Amino acid sequence: MTVVDFPEIRRTNPGKIGVLNLQGGVVEHLDHLERLSIQGIPVKKPEELKELAGLIIPGGESTCLSRLINIFGLDEAIKEEYKRGMKLWGTCAGAILLARHVVGEEAHLGLIDIEIKRNSFGSQLDSFACEALVPEVASEPLPLTFIRAPKILRVGEGVKILLAMDDYIAAAESDGVLVTIFHPELTECLAFHRYFARKCSLAAKEEVPPLDPTWNMLSWTRYARIAS
Ligand code: GLN
Repeated sequence: MTVVDFPEIRRTNPGKIGVLNLQGGVVEHLDHLERLSIQGIPVKKPEELKELAGLIIPGGESTCLSRLINIFGLDEAIKEEYKRGMKLWGTCAGAILLARHVVGEEAHLGLIDIEIKRNSFGSQLDSFACEALVPEVASEPLPLTFIRAPKILRVGEGVKILLAMDDYIAAAESDGVLVTIFHPELTECLAFHRYFARKCSLAAKEEVPPLDPTWNMLSWTRYARIAS
């Protein structure tokens, strides 16, 4: 994949990636960025988008996120910054928000030409985990966690499929937008965050392996308030 060059951005690029901080898996993404020594900042206001190299729209609930994006006046601001060159990555609900076509409903931000269908695997109880090789992202199979995930049904012109499985597409990208219907931030996988950082023309700590060796079975609960 050719990374589009935005020399004017590199000049002013302070090297930060924002994580939309309205609802959903915000801290988990910030934590993964930190593990790669990338400065991640939670974003709630339009002015906080200024000069970001990239923005992650996390998983959560797309209807809720979409309403909050409008309430917080972020809709136009995200589109403006995208035009300026800010890269976007949507995980799960984030991918739904970025899709140009959403089956049975109006599109939200509509910044990548994909068709996506919400809740395609069934209920929350039909959530699952598996592994797959995504050659553009890492040379070893990566863990994938699907939580009441959508399916990407097709991609349009200018969109490359990064991972196709059974009857659906699980990861795709255009020059400016990456979409994954699974959640790398809930696993030991740092490879997608590094891949996105590279897309944003930022250098992630190279010596960090694609899979965090310190991860254990309980790491996903690291931000849960579990009484000890
Ligand atoms: N089911 C959610 C939706 O349609 C997405 C779930 C997720 O982000 N894990 O918005």
